[in-house]
Amino acid sequence: MAVPLSQMWTVSTYVLGKRLKGEKRYPLVLMLEPLFRCNLACAGCGKIQYPPHILKKQLTPEECFQAVDECGAPMVSIPGGEPLLHPQIVEIVNGLVARRKYIYLCTNALELKRRLHEFTPSKYLTFSVHLDGQREHHDFSVCREGGYDIAVDAIKAAVAAGFRVTTNATFFDGADPNSVRSFFDEVMAYGVEGIVLSPGYSYDKAPDQEHFMGRARSRRLFKAALSNRKASWKFNMSPLFLEFLMGRRDYDCTPWGMPAYNVFGWQKPCYLLQEGYADSYRELLETTAWEEYGVGSGNPKCANCMVSCGYEATAVVDGFGSASSFIDLVKGTFRRYRDPEALKLLEEAPPRSADAAEPAGEAA
Ligand code: SF4
Ligand code: SF4
Repeated sequence: MAVPLSQMWTVSTYVLGKRLKGEKRYPLVLMLEPLFRCNLACAGCGKIQYPPHILKKQLTPEECFQAVDECGAPMVSIPGGEPLLHPQIVEIVNGLVARRKYIYLCTNALELKRRLHEFTPSKYLTFSVHLDGQREHHDFSVCREGGYDIAVDAIKAAVAAGFRVTTNATFFDGADPNSVRSFFDEVMAYGVEGIVLSPGYSYDKAPDQEHFMGRARSRRLFKAALSNRKASWKFNMSPLFLEFLMGRRDYDCTPWGMPAYNVFGWQKPCYLLQEGYADSYRELLETTAWEEYGVGSGNPKCANCMVSCGYEATAVVDGFGSASSFIDLVKGTFRRYRDPEALKLLEEAPPRSADAAEPAGEAA
């Protein structure tokens, strides 16, 4: 089991409490972006293309704490940009640990080893290290030779120092499921608690627009990679969300479950799209036209999206929605998903990007 029992207990009692109160929309994970600047320039990034005056901005610790307190989500993910470039990141993390929030500090790990001594190991703090596959794939993805080795060195140092560590991978079109499976073997051997993964989302601003997958290709990749699992693999994600990625269940997006707060305010409607900002989480809930988003809405911007910030909250809430879903949730934690068809997919060559044209909205 990748997630500690105390965290599972906190999240499950939170969701059940919301259900008992009859609340339909509530946050599960706050995506807190304290800054957009970064020390890498990945081709698939949708965050670092802001003009310099925006990249210089950052949230103060007080603004972070106010957003966390107002929102009330039990978990806080701190992406960016690169959070370790924020001069007060230690103060922000300590303030959130004091609030007993389960924090995932997402980092490319270029600075992690050097800064480790500034942090204190805690069950509330996890370093979520950006690692997009095996060495060659990761270095290509982050446009930096040697990036993989630096990240792995930092992972080993953080694990040795007693920190919770996960890896966080985004996969793009052309990813070879065999390599993805070897990557799972590698990172588990480094001692990480679990793996987080997601298909890439085609941000308008990302420099590389050619390698984003449609739904059918995402499901094919994840069916091949995540079926016939090894017992050593652990995933720091809802098993039902992984089933969604594998095409075993269908969900629609519930973007209010993982709201994004950054230097502009509360982003509408989700971490990926920027269609306005609200001054408070309540205003975000009350003024966003939620029915215009998600794959079921027909919105072309959502047609090929399967990312965790839209769909994992749906899966988590579903897991506590009925006895049968809860049984699936528990079973999914231990299942190996034996599937001969998926084994055949592993024998085939990965689809080439040149073949990747797929009509928007294809949901096969
Ligand atoms: S490490 Fe993350 S924030 Fe930095 S450029 Fe890459 S994707 Fe963007
Ligand atoms: S489907 Fe994706 S892009 Fe659309 S609202 Fe949900 S998370 Fe955002």
